[in-house]
Amino acid sequence: MAPAHPLRPLAVGNWKMHGLKAALVEAKRVCDSLRTASFAVGVEAMICPPATLIDALAREARDTRLLVGGQDCHAKAWGAHTGDIAAEMLKDAGASAVIVGHSERRSGHGERDGDVKAKAAAAHRAGLLAIVCIGETEGERRAGRALEVVGRQLAGSLPDSIDAGDTAVAYEPVWAIGTGMTATAEAIAEVHGFLRQALLDAFGRAGESVRILYGGSVKPDNVSGLMAVANVNGALIGGASLKSEDFLAIIAAMAPRG
Ligand code: PEP
Repeated sequence: MAPAHPLRPLAVGNWKMHGLKAALVEAKRVCDSLRTASFAVGVEAMICPPATLIDALAREARDTRLLVGGQDCHAKAWGAHTGDIAAEMLKDAGASAVIVGHSERRSGHGERDGDVKAKAAAAHRAGLLAIVCIGETEGERRAGRALEVVGRQLAGSLPDSIDAGDTAVAYEPVWAIGTGMTATAEAIAEVHGFLRQALLDAFGRAGESVRILYGGSVKPDNVSGLMAVANVNGALIGGASLKSEDFLAIIAAMAPRG
């Protein structure tokens, strides 16, 4: 089921652990295009750089339509957690969102649904949009368990309550991330429709406001087809967000037509 009102497409670039200060030149090009009022009208664009670049990017993005996000946060607001970053610190540095539960955090740092749920709640506490990632592995899809897995992850990773507009869900099949493979339109439609219904069942009207992003090898040449799939409200983009030319082409292709 689709929400009653069309949702603003959201393009989120995830730079992962890529980018020294010199990489800001790519983000500056994105900012320059987003300063133009007629470019990609109706699209919300965001870059989530390494934490070291959030402050500088937020300054660069001031007075443009580019939003800045973090890639992870700690569940607590402060404390003895060496090396971690609180959601409040991301906000203080200029972020308006944070990705939580990315599959690379789940696999590389042992994060489980309960940890992701606590981080998403921390994002809300700090006034950030929580971008909650879920997705099945290749083995789980082959075993016919994709819906079961994403349903369980969704239920376990979202906070108990959400407010309109404070949450996005990114469906990222693990086998499609960084591999050049994308899920078929049929598979994406099935999963996104399932997630939309689960969001409506769990949160009622607020569930309508949750944008469901697709992630996994989104590129300039496949984004239009992906955005045409029912209940796809945007994309989480890794590799192709590192080059301004590609990221801008993706943002432009997301603009609602007519
Ligand atoms: C990601 O970083 O979440 C991602 C989907 O990466 P890529 O676009 O490179 O597959």
